[in-house]
Amino acid sequence: MKFHDYCTTSLEDWVTKFYSRIGITKPKQIDITAISRCLRIYVHYKPIYSYFEVIGRYQGIVIDCREPPEKHREIFFHELCHILRHAGVQSMMPKAFRELQEWDARHFVKYAAIPFHMLQYINFDDPHVVEQMTDIFKVSPELCLERLLQLQRNGYFRQSVPTQSFHWD
Ligand SMILES: [Zn+2]
Repeated sequence: MKFHDYCTTSLEDWVTKFYSRIGITKPKQIDITAISRCLRIYVHYKPIYSYFEVIGRYQGIVIDCREPPEKHREIFFHELCHILRHAGVQSMMPKAFRELQEWDARHFVKYAAIPFHMLQYINFDDPHVVEQMTDIFKVSPELCLERLLQLQRNGYFRQSVPTQSFHWD
């Protein structure tokens, strides 16, 4: 069912390089604590809107603990993308540029949470592939579905897979 002429996106390649640099090759190694420690980013859980902070050498991410645990990784990766890829203070930027960064961060989440070099751990022929992915990558079914649809759009599967098979309940 897989079609390996798929062309990875540049953001996908960026994520693969980033993970290999810090030695992350298996889904089990994707871990907020391990990644943030390795990058010297302080992570806090507070009942406030999530944000990131870079002050001199200090780098921090606040995760809104009111969000369900399955969303924490997605929030972490979103803020991490801003720290790693977007220099500068967002509030001082023109709106269009800020929107571009938000777009970039949203895509980054998909690729960082379900990296290309770990797609081999997914059995795409499983009728419960979404549940399987949520289990392997500890993210929401919505994000898994988004990733599946992105793969399908970019020709990762040999036949076009009926979207109905990408479901969960
Ligand atoms: Zn953002």
